[in-house]
Amino acid sequence: ARVYDVVVIGGGAAGLATIASLLKRQPDLSIALAEPSQQHFYQPGWTLVGGGVFEQSSTVKNMADLIPQTVSWFDTAAQSFSPLQNSVLLADNTKLQYRSLIVATGLKLDWGAIAGLDNHLGSCGITSNYAPGLAPYTWELVQNLDKGRAIFTQPVMPIKCAGAPQKAMYLSCDHWLRRQRLRHIDVQFCSAGAVLFGVPDYVPALNSYIEKYDISLNLQTQLLSIDASAKTARFKKTNADSSTEIIEKEFDMLHLTPPQVALDVIRQSPLADVAGWVDVFPDTLQHKNYANVFALGDCANTPNSKTAAAVRKQAPVVAENVLNLLKNRKLTSVYDGYGSCPLTVERGKIVLAEFIYGGKLAPTFPSWFINGTQPSALSWFLKEKMLPPLYWYAMLKGHEWMAASIQKDDLPTDRHVKPSCNF
Ligand code: FAD
Repeated sequence: ARVYDVVVIGGGAAGLATIASLLKRQPDLSIALAEPSQQHFYQPGWTLVGGGVFEQSSTVKNMADLIPQTVSWFDTAAQSFSPLQNSVLLADNTKLQYRSLIVATGLKLDWGAIAGLDNHLGSCGITSNYAPGLAPYTWELVQNLDKGRAIFTQPVMPIKCAGAPQKAMYLSCDHWLRRQRLRHIDVQFCSAGAVLFGVPDYVPALNSYIEKYDISLNLQTQLLSIDASAKTARFKKTNADSSTEIIEKEFDMLHLTPPQVALDVIRQSPLADVAGWVDVFPDTLQHKNYANVFALGDCANTPNSKTAAAVRKQAPVVAENVLNLLKNRKLTSVYDGYGSCPLTVERGKIVLAEFIYGGKLAPTFPSWFINGTQPSALSWFLKEKMLPPLYWYAMLKGHEWMAASIQKDDLPTDRHVKPSCNF
């Protein structure tokens, strides 16, 4: 059987960006990609679709048009991993052999964890910008709501783009404010978290919008279940004294952010940590047990914010480390945990959160140009006009604009406790 230099599992943001970075450095590399979807989504655009700024169609492209011609594409899902045999079994029983494996499968939106939701998502006033194709329904609901109650939920972390539940809410409020409807709408943010946003520097600006839109902020309030026909949602609220109570709220519009967990195929594999995510070193993104396996994007257990912005910085790191590994050289590229979350606080303004591991701020631009902790029109321009082309034509094509990897020549070489396979 053919042994590929690299097998990539998942052709989302992370898989395609890494393939592009690899081929830019070594065009003759033999690469196989397993990706079952015929479509590729630019998910960061869904916030703006739900806010009536983008068309859904601008966020979708044919997978076939994005995969480089030299890559062997298997449009089938991976079903099991055998890292000691250097192989992956696909759902149609094709076995892919590799010298190096890159796992980029993303995460699982756990809709089933919301009791009573069943197939009501996308009807009865229940929507989610997280569900592929449903952001237009969010915008439809926002336009049609004249009065009543709108609830926006946020589950337990980690979730991809931790700011997205709030972004949907602020853009909806902005629309209702401009149409002089906001005073007739009771807007509630119900978050399982104890704080509004994980990095404290951005909280004051966000709080000012909570006040401006008169949003009632319900922290430590976790969605449990929905009764779609009665239009009520039940929450578990944790009080200051750690006691808990079940509360019920009626809604006219409900924007859900589902709980997000590791995919079963990863969780059940030897690659997973106890929580089910791919267990990699946070700097090199190399697997902790299997030296020729790497992971990046939402499936990895690195403690960064799960964003496409993180992927933009991770892809060159993985590409360089894989190529060094294949040449029996030391790994030298490290990822610093960069992630970014453009918080759309109103139509035309964004609070641009950018930070690395440990919540340390890491702004791309000098503060006289863009001060990330303040709402900024320039940041909105960046999000609306610059980031989509940056994604499609730079990140997915291997042009690593401002994403050069950090080089370290003193990384430990004896990190692997278990003997790994030969490659
Ligand atoms: P994905 O892009 O989800 O791709 C995973 C791929 O793996 C998919 O193509 C899937 O089909 C494939 N796959 C799944 N299972 C298998 C299998 N068994 N075998 C093979 N293939 C498989 N990020 C930002 O940077 N900025 C933002 O403003 C932003 N806003 C967001 C707003 C919303 C509403 C959402 C939903 C996300 C947002 N994100 C944002 C997050 C960003 O989209 C993700 O972090 C990013 O897409 C992660 O890339 P990924 O490749 O890891 O996962």
